[in-house]
Amino acid sequence: MAVNEQMVQDIVKEVMAKMQLQKDEPTGKQLGIFDNMNEAIAAAKEAQKVIRNMSMDQREQIITNIRRKTKENAEMLARMAVEETGMGNVPHKILKHQLLAEKTPGTEDIVTEAWSGDRGLTLIEMGPFGVIGAITPTTNPSETILCNAIGMIAAGNTVVFNAHPRAIKTSNFAVNLINEASLEAGGPENVACSLKHPTMESSDIMMSHKDIQLIAATGGPGVVTAVLSSGRRGIGAGAGNPPALVDETADIRKAAQDIVNGCTFDNNLPCIAEKEVVAVSSVVDELMDYMVKEQGCYLASKEEQDKLIATVLTPKGALNRDCVGRDAKTLLGMIGVTVPDNIRCIIFEGEKENPLISKELMMPILGIVRAKDFDDALEQAVWLEHGNRHSAHIHSKNIDNITRYAKAIDTAILVKNAPSYAALGFGGEGFCTFTIASRTGEGLTSARTFTKKRRCVMADSLCIR
Ligand code: NAD
Repeated sequence: MAVNEQMVQDIVKEVMAKMQLQKDEPTGKQLGIFDNMNEAIAAAKEAQKVIRNMSMDQREQIITNIRRKTKENAEMLARMAVEETGMGNVPHKILKHQLLAEKTPGTEDIVTEAWSGDRGLTLIEMGPFGVIGAITPTTNPSETILCNAIGMIAAGNTVVFNAHPRAIKTSNFAVNLINEASLEAGGPENVACSLKHPTMESSDIMMSHKDIQLIAATGGPGVVTAVLSSGRRGIGAGAGNPPALVDETADIRKAAQDIVNGCTFDNNLPCIAEKEVVAVSSVVDELMDYMVKEQGCYLASKEEQDKLIATVLTPKGALNRDCVGRDAKTLLGMIGVTVPDNIRCIIFEGEKENPLISKELMMPILGIVRAKDFDDALEQAVWLEHGNRHSAHIHSKNIDNITRYAKAIDTAILVKNAPSYAALGFGGEGFCTFTIASRTGEGLTSARTFTKKRRCVMADSLCIR
């Protein structure tokens, strides 16, 4: 067979790709990684017997180590995730890891309620479930795993992850760190477990296993529905499509800045990120003007919007996974538009039914819907949230409007006059989580979410008032 130049180039490319893969593959045995789900659950069950007998101080030591390791490896995890999934932005992912390391609650979140009176003392104690089964997304793979593990271990549980197959290298790297953190604190191995090759079948085994007491699922609508149909207690952190409403009382310049900052964070991957805007007619032009002139937005023409629809969605209307979590410049490049590096978001005015607006794209594409007045804006925003009850945002100085919006949209998160990420404690008060239980109502999860309440009663004594 004749060897031509093209063939040589193809072979060199293939070898280089293989060498790159090997170079990136974490070396040595990774702790907590198993070939099959039953083994993983059995190992996590053994580890839980140890954890439940550890003092809160010892558990907190494990968590301190997880925080430290998360910070030390933030850049590595961020790079791995972007490389493996092809989605997101390294500096933003580093920030997400730093945030979770600093602001995810640990054992301090486990508190006791007490009644003390003539008839004695009654306590409500928060106890562990045992082994938790967790399903994690591709959009925040290691963030979700590390954040879940901190809360679950603080509460005295261990956890088995059925991580997203497209983010398995990053996910398992995080699982290994968690086990190293435990061993270094004198705790057991396998406080967090995962599989080499997770599948839908391994997920099914997990969801029906007798030793799994609770399932915590973070992902799109499919996974939450599967968990809720499993017959098990499930925490369902599902999809969102958060609208940002802007009324005429808002500081429009700041609203433009906050919305674009939130929308472009990690290339719009966070489930809480602004996915579309609904603005009252009198401020739409000014808002878009600021977005274009000051916030690095590209105003897409009708023709470009049509090309984007044909590119980012499949003919059946599903997401083109090659476009999810990509930056604005890359997305525009895919439709033949070249823009400078400072372009970070694609905007246009459109109807709420436009698929670029109504679908949860997880891309920095921000449609702006014009509303006649506040009532109309509220109605359109509620429609766009699709009843996910996940997240919504508003830019307004009218507290009556804010209150009406909050009641009507009824979401787990409502950020006022700030970028969406303020909801995670980034530029806002409060703790951090990457599992927002929108469907099942726990809201932002933390250690206490992963506990069972136990009433502990001492009648007619121990009241010393
Ligand atoms: P995805 O739904 O494709 O996958 C999430 C996880 O569920 C993966 O581990 C996947 O393997 C698994 N999975 C999917 N369908 C399943 C089924 N039928 N049975 C069992 N397991 C199943 O989601 P993704 O693309 O990785 O993440 C993005 C989605 O997750 C978005 O919709 C986003 O809004 C949502 N999300 C929600 C939260 C939250 O806290 N509410 C956080 C992050 C992401």
